[in-house]
Amino acid sequence: MKFVIATHNPHKCEELARILVPLNIEAVTDSQLGVSLPEVEETGETFLSNAFLKADSACDFTGLPAIADDSGMMVDALDGAPGVYSSRFAGENGTYEDCNAKLLAMMQDVPAEKRTAHFVSVITCVFPNGDVVTGEGRCDGVIADTTRGAGGFGYDPLFVVGDKSFAEMTPAEKDAVSHRGKALEAFSKELQAYLAAHAE
Ligand code: IMP
Repeated sequence: MKFVIATHNPHKCEELARILVPLNIEAVTDSQLGVSLPEVEETGETFLSNAFLKADSACDFTGLPAIADDSGMMVDALDGAPGVYSSRFAGENGTYEDCNAKLLAMMQDVPAEKRTAHFVSVITCVFPNGDVVTGEGRCDGVIADTTRGAGGFGYDPLFVVGDKSFAEMTPAEKDAVSHRGKALEAFSKELQAYLAAHAE
């Protein structure tokens, strides 16, 4: 069975393709299909609604089951910001460094015990018959008072779980605790159950 992955992030495509292999699913990107998926505005107020908007549009466009994800970080001292605006926290053209600098500035006077935060990742598959399968993962941590480590992307240098920031972890260490690792695991289980229930 062929599924299309509605993301241009090669890291996410590779991760998703890897978990789909044991389910006998061939995961392809739009460019592998020789098409270009329409851009979808992420107007949803939740990660689930944004993931759904992207998957639904890709499913409509290709006629194939389509998988999309959405994720972000919620900081308690900022009432849950940046949340669904995580990638745009420093404006449309802001870099990861700009986002981290803005976050550090806003957290300047927040004491250690109030620097709690969590990441959420939602992965959704929309089928041409309208069925939807979803997996969600969460990872709790704290915001460091300075950037730490050189790995990863986004808020990784500021998000600390245990004694390491995400940017100080190896990819395997991060996958084992991360919101995305947990969402992939939950999604894989849900999809397996769905496919078993719909096998001819
Ligand atoms: P999206 O799911 O690709 O739309 O990502 C939303 C934004 O959340 C990213 O641009 C990052 O700023 C942030 N983000 C999501 N997951 C992670 C992560 O694992 N580490 C660091 N930042 C992340």
